[in-house]
Amino acid sequence: MPSPIVTATLFGLKGDNLKLLTQNSKMKKAKIKTFDFAIPAWSSEATGIKTCPGADWNKCGKICYARDGRYRMKSTQNAMEARLAITQKVDFVDIMSSEINEKLKRNPKGFNLRMHSSGDFYHRVYLLKWTALAIKYPMVTFYAYTKMVPFFRGHTLPPNMTVVFSYGGKFDNQITYGDRHAKVFPSVYALRKAGYTDASVNDTVAANPKIRRLGLVYHGRYYRSKVKPTLGLD
Ligand code: SF4
Repeated sequence: MPSPIVTATLFGLKGDNLKLLTQNSKMKKAKIKTFDFAIPAWSSEATGIKTCPGADWNKCGKICYARDGRYRMKSTQNAMEARLAITQKVDFVDIMSSEINEKLKRNPKGFNLRMHSSGDFYHRVYLLKWTALAIKYPMVTFYAYTKMVPFFRGHTLPPNMTVVFSYGGKFDNQITYGDRHAKVFPSVYALRKAGYTDASVNDTVAANPKIRRLGLVYHGRYYRSKVKPTLGLD
């Protein structure tokens, strides 16, 4: 089985340049140390794997923030493809455990780990791997936005793992008001007026299971367009 370094090399990266866990600007603002694991949004160009199988092209795919801007850089795309390849390995849990162990050396009290600033749970087996990691590391809070609502019906999550159902997918009609969920609003004022908590600026909100209704304000490439998304993006 190729190591992460070999996998990275296959995607044109120097092995030691592949970071499994990274931080974006939103996470750097989080009150609690937060890391992110990103795979290709919508689908993998290298393998054709549909990485967001619950997404609806017209609602979120064509205006996806994670297929725009810095995400289009070749180095970023290669890193996301390499991470996706690593998730498919039978020893993904061991590989990710090594990375988490490294982060715990500097953050011994734990940290937040966002599964996917881009991409989603593309297969039930993949969800099980993250669930195993959450059980193994109770001091780490694992969180994700997801459109794969059916995967979570009947699937018990450990207390340190939480997901937010994100409107804008094929399974919107399965999201109930009582579920943790996220919607996109035209402004912070509008989301607050509707009784939602602003999750646009600080990612700590998404990691807190007590916050049930999250509002996001869209700032992607359609921001100044007359065509505004009306449903959720994660
Ligand atoms: S908005 Fe989220 S679910 Fe939709 S395509 Fe982009 S990463 Fe996937």
